Amino acid sequence: MDNNHLSKTIVEAKNLTKTFAIKVATEKGWEKKAVAAVTDVNLTIHAGETLALVGESGCGKTTLGRMLALFYQPSSGQLSIHGNSVTGLKNRQLKPLRQHVQMIFQDPMSSLNPRHTVEGILTEPMKIFPELGGAEAKRQNTPAGRFEKAAKLMDAVGLSKADLAKYPHEFSGGQRQRITIARALVLNPAFIVADEPVSALDVSVQSQILNLMKDLREEFNLTYLFISHDLAVVHHLADRIAVMYLGRIVEIADRNSLFADARHPYTQSLLRSVPTVTPNKSKIGQILQGDPPSPINPPNGCAFHPRCDRATDICREQLPDMQKVSDTHFAACHHHEHRVNTDSLHTMADT
Ligand code: SF4
Repeated sequence: MDNNHLSKTIVEAKNLTKTFAIKVATEKGWEKKAVAAVTDVNLTIHAGETLALVGESGCGKTTLGRMLALFYQPSSGQLSIHGNSVTGLKNRQLKPLRQHVQMIFQDPMSSLNPRHTVEGILTEPMKIFPELGGAEAKRQNTPAGRFEKAAKLMDAVGLSKADLAKYPHEFSGGQRQRITIARALVLNPAFIVADEPVSALDVSVQSQILNLMKDLREEFNLTYLFISHDLAVVHHLADRIAVMYLGRIVEIADRNSLFADARHPYTQSLLRSVPTVTPNKSKIGQILQGDPPSPINPPNGCAFHPRCDRATDICREQLPDMQKVSDTHFAACHHHEHRVNTDSLHTMADT
């Protein structure tokens, strides 16, 4: 594999499902149950694009991200990374693929070893995987070569060579996230899963990190899966957006279609929830009410029907299939042809 991958498919997921075994209290005592965190996800991510994955807490977006980052094995379904099927592979077999997929976590402090200097943090992956990173990387995998690469990455993320001698606690939250981004780049990945990378940061720092990720995508030919609960944040970076609800993707579209013409009532509710500086009174009564149902006992039919003001009998009985809205826009809703007045949504299309 190489990084010359523009126009290629980086990730292909077919019917990807992840279940976890949990214990639930019943009248007879504790019972084991399989709970689906992610169900039947079909997804393609193309080289060079940023696909945002949005949804409320607990909707399964982190679990899906971790499967695509090769942290979790799918319970069923097919997953290919850069044309290589990874389904059912053992850890040893996954190792050569790991250089192509890296992850950036939400909390930079807990994802950096506080006892290591930044130099140690950035050079460690090269020591652990000396055979990874391509032929050039292998040749340069000497103490001096590793230091030089770490210094270059620090420069790429807006920090200095001198910072390599410091420890994580000596940096601000935004600077620490820059270090985790540099660490994610060490093995020359093609694909990065960023799980809420800015939600632990001050608002003033968030846009700096988003701009940095945008620049690095061009500089290093990266492809992102950007996980967030915040549509305003993903608007800044995403080419396409997938919306998840209770373990399933319920709508997927290019950014402008999703913001201008969302068809799933859940997506419309998320759009209404985006705070604006000029609050629109017509939106207030329509903001999503209630909590998502428990994945232990998901509702029949469309899982969104208990919260949906458009639900009809068919919604309570039949799971909706993904319906085509346009070549780049799909929604899993029995009433997807129902359009809403986008003036009442927080539309950010074409901005
Ligand atoms: Fe609402 Fe029915 Fe569409 Fe589900 S299928 S989102 S309940 S209208």
